[in-house]
Amino acid sequence: CGIVGVLGNHEAAPLLVEALKRLEYRGYDSAGIATVNQGKLERRRAVGKLVNLSDKLVHEPLPGKSGIGHTRWATHGAPNVSNAHPHRAGPVAVVHNGIIENYRELRAELTEQGLTPQTETDTETIVLLTRSFLDQGCTPHQAAAKSLEKLEGAFALCFLFDGEEDLLIAARKGSPLAIGHGDGEMFVGSDAIALAPLTNKITYLEEGDRAVITRAGAQIYDAQGNQTNREMRVVRVDA
Ligand code: GLU
Repeated sequence: CGIVGVLGNHEAAPLLVEALKRLEYRGYDSAGIATVNQGKLERRRAVGKLVNLSDKLVHEPLPGKSGIGHTRWATHGAPNVSNAHPHRAGPVAVVHNGIIENYRELRAELTEQGLTPQTETDTETIVLLTRSFLDQGCTPHQAAAKSLEKLEGAFALCFLFDGEEDLLIAARKGSPLAIGHGDGEMFVGSDAIALAPLTNKITYLEEGDRAVITRAGAQIYDAQGNQTNREMRVVRVDA
């Protein structure tokens, strides 16, 4: 339901939780974050209010300056920890807003390849697909792009990869997604409100866009796969 991403110069977990709080108005049943720390991808998830996630993070901290976060409004699968985002398969994690319409076909294909889903969600098919392309030798960008080609439905996505502390891949098809520009830091959010305390310099992805984001900036590709420029605006949101 709500998506955030951080490539920062400070600890990401508190920024992710704060940004998710600003998306609470959308409603949600569970929440989670993932970070990459010293190359290692890890995640924490909790059912219910964000305070449950914060409590968990007190006992099991999640260090790292890069990360993604999610508040879930379950559409496929019960609101439990296993179905909560970020979803992960091996070296890749994703947060997803929306619905993957062809997830049944994808689940069947993946199961045949020996990549059996472990959750009830439509979302897990995305990380399983991406993992299969990574296993075939694709770079994270190639693997995400190839996965996106196979997805039908409406979504906003943000990917995070094991071993990649300076990379987020974001995609938009049917659900809005904003990229925030900081000073040597970059952010992703479902809307500018989520990012208001972090930056007011926003680039909105357009329909079918995907973005390869590092701390140096964002490279945006349109629905045809051509590199493109999207205007950066200074938005006024009351922080
Ligand atoms: N369809 C996904 C799920 O049920 C994402 C729902 C959402 O947008 O929060 O997990």
